[in-house]
Amino acid sequence: MIKVIVAGYQGRMGSTAAQMVIDNPDFELVGVYDARGTDQNLNENNQFSDQDVPAFHDLKQLTTDATVWIDFTVPTAVYENAQFALKHGISPVIGTTGMTDEQVAALQKLAKVQQVGGLIAPNFGISAVLLMQFAQQAAKYFPDVEIIEMHHDDKIDSPSGTAISTAKKIAEVRQPKEQGNPDATETLPGARGADYEGMRIHAVRLPGLVAHEEVMFGGPGEGLTIRQDSFDRISFMTGVKVAVEKVNQYQELFVGLEHLL
Ligand code: NAP
Repeated sequence: MIKVIVAGYQGRMGSTAAQMVIDNPDFELVGVYDARGTDQNLNENNQFSDQDVPAFHDLKQLTTDATVWIDFTVPTAVYENAQFALKHGISPVIGTTGMTDEQVAALQKLAKVQQVGGLIAPNFGISAVLLMQFAQQAAKYFPDVEIIEMHHDDKIDSPSGTAISTAKKIAEVRQPKEQGNPDATETLPGARGADYEGMRIHAVRLPGLVAHEEVMFGGPGEGLTIRQDSFDRISFMTGVKVAVEKVNQYQELFVGLEHLL
C-alpha cells in the first residue's frame, strides 16, 4: 500500500488526484494539504464527505507517514512544498507548473543529497508526452516552428509548462535559427508571441478549454501540424498513477513522465 498526501486538494487537479488515490486499492490517502484551506478533515469537503483524512494548512504543523507527495498547487507554493517533501523523505510527484529552471535544478540537487526519488511532469497526459516526442522528431527536418498552447482562462502561468518543455525538447535537435523576417515589426506588442531560441510560443486563454497544444512546422511548400487535446482532467490521472507507483524506486528527481514510462 503506497501512502499518499495530496497538496492543492481543493483545486481542480488536486481534487481529481485525491479521488484517483481514494479509488485505487493500492494507494492510501493519508493526508491533504492546502495552505489557504481551513478544514481539519477532508470529510468537511462535500465531494469527500465519507473520507476520514487529516487536512493540513501549515507546513510547520504537517506530520505524515506518506511516502509520496502529489502536488497540484500554484507556482508560488510548489518549490517550498517540494523542498519540504524531499527533506522529509517523501517522493514528490509534481504536476504544478511555473517553476524556474534554477528551482528545478535546486530540487534535483536536493533529491540526490536526500536520496529520494521524485518526478516533475509538466504534463501527465500520454497524448502530450507523445506530442513532445513527435515534435522533437519533426524539428530535425523543420527548424521553423510555432507552438500554440490553449488553456482555460483560470490558468495562472504562461506559457504553459508543456509548451516550454516542447520548446526545450525541440531546441535539443533544432538548428539554432531566428525565424521570420529580421526586419519584422510588431504594430501591437506581443503579436508574435514569446521568443524561445527564435521559436515563437503563443498562449491562448479561453473559458471552455482544458489543455491543448499545437506545434506547427513550416518548410518550403509544405507544413506539418501536430496537436493534442486534454478534454478532461481525468486524462492526466493515468500518468499520475504510474508516477505514484514507480517514484519510490528511484533516488533522483526526473523531469518528464517519459522517464518513468
Ligand atoms: P487550481 O484549481 O487553482 O488549484 C490550485 C490549488 O492550490 C487551489 O485549491 C489553491 O487554493 C491551492 N493552493 C494555493 N496556494 C497553496 C499553497 N501555498 N499550498 C498548497 N495549496 C495551495 O489549479 P489547477 O487547475 O488544479 O492547476 C494546478 C496546477 O497544476 C497548475 O500549475 C497547472 O498548470 C497544473 N496542471 C498540471 C497538469 C499536468 O499534467 N502536469 C495538468 C493540469 C494542470 P486557493 O484556491 O485557495 O488559492
